[in-house]
Amino acid sequence: MRHRIAVVGGGPAGLTFARVLHRHGHPVAVLERDPAPDARPPGGTLDLHEGLGQLALDKAGLLAEFQALSRPEGQAMRILDTAGTVLRDWQPSPDEQANPEIDRGQLRDLLLGSLDVQWGREVVQVVPGTEEGVLVRYADGGQETFDLVVGADGAWSRVRPAVSPVTPQYTGVSSVETSLDDVDTRHPDLAQLIGDGSVAVYGVNRSLVAQRNSGGHVKVYTKFRAPLDWHAELDLADVEAARSGVLALFDGWAPPVLDLLGHGTAFVHRPFYVLPVSHTWAHVRGVTLLGDAAHLMPPLGAGANLAMLDGAELAESIAADPEDLDEAVRAFEERMWARASRWATITTAGLERLVSPDPAEALALFDQVQPS
Ligand SMILES: Cc1cc2nc3c(=O)[nH]c(=O)nc-3n(C[C@H](O)[C@H](O)[C@H](O)COP(=O)(O)OP(=O)(O)OC[C@H]3O[C@@H](n4cnc5c(N)ncnc54)[C@H](O)[C@@H]3O)c2cc1C
Repeated sequence: MRHRIAVVGGGPAGLTFARVLHRHGHPVAVLERDPAPDARPPGGTLDLHEGLGQLALDKAGLLAEFQALSRPEGQAMRILDTAGTVLRDWQPSPDEQANPEIDRGQLRDLLLGSLDVQWGREVVQVVPGTEEGVLVRYADGGQETFDLVVGADGAWSRVRPAVSPVTPQYTGVSSVETSLDDVDTRHPDLAQLIGDGSVAVYGVNRSLVAQRNSGGHVKVYTKFRAPLDWHAELDLADVEAARSGVLALFDGWAPPVLDLLGHGTAFVHRPFYVLPVSHTWAHVRGVTLLGDAAHLMPPLGAGANLAMLDGAELAESIAADPEDLDEAVRAFEERMWARASRWATITTAGLERLVSPDPAEALALFDQVQPS
């Protein structure tokens, strides 16, 4: 029996789900709001963990291609104090494959492959339990019904209200990110500071991480505790105003660290929102959630990994029991909730320690995760 299955969202969760389901011979409609794959800048680099994102790529038959594209050397990590003194300088061994980095754009293209995505398909509402199945309403006024609608549409999911009334809450931590291009030729001193991977600096209630992407591109992420309206007096769309506003937050930090912000080309504000640590819902026939839509958590290197493994496991669960779609979804949800709750606990505690009144907490966390 052929089920009518749709996944809303073509991010890491939705694309992995579609790839693995296709691999098992099941068609799926991928409904993505963006008008084209390159409609937005794809974002920075992601480290894919052996037992999470890499496992999902293996289930999609894409692990060898990932290994050819990824950057194991990108796992290198240097930690400075705010005066610029090097506190840790961790280099991966040449065969270290635990968490290699890949640019988000490369990962998206790898997952897309020959998938047939419906671009410019914005979902505004999902209504379960109609006579014809689950009704999906589109922004252009059209609608369609399916047997299963999978919400992989991220933090501000339009599918989530069909199963859960919960909405993301502000963590009290905001971020402004910027980037540098051609760092090796334009800013060789900063290129050296960053090395092959990342450099991180932790101060009181603040941190800055600069991370190398491929092609000499660097993303610089600041994190700081602040009320949501901290920028009320600042026009963040004005690059120079944003730069001086962000530099003011890091007043007194060593010049090479501040240069990472001083040379930034554009500034993006990203307040961190999360769903409750153990977000679950009473099972609804015909609708489920994956990735950030189900378990948005602090961005500490797990979200995309979990999103991909969710996608792969739901697809495998359906492929293993195609006659009983509802049971396949129920079984998957139980597994996803347990795993997501563990990681949400870890990342929530991690954010407290990485953006802490005591910068020694961040260093202690690094030593715990990455013993020398
Ligand atoms: C600064 C930062 C750094 C991060 N670094 C890492 C990292 O190193 N490692 C890691 O594992 N995770 C990281 N994360 C977390 C990671 O980005 C997310 O957890 C991951 O992208 C979630 O994937 P997803 O597919 O669930 O959702 P998303 O990536 O948000 O994808 C959702 C997709 O749904 C589409 N969509 C949204 N609404 C609709 C709609 N109404 N109709 C149709 N389509 C819609 C969107 O256009 C998008 O394509 C980071 C996050 C941030 C903010």
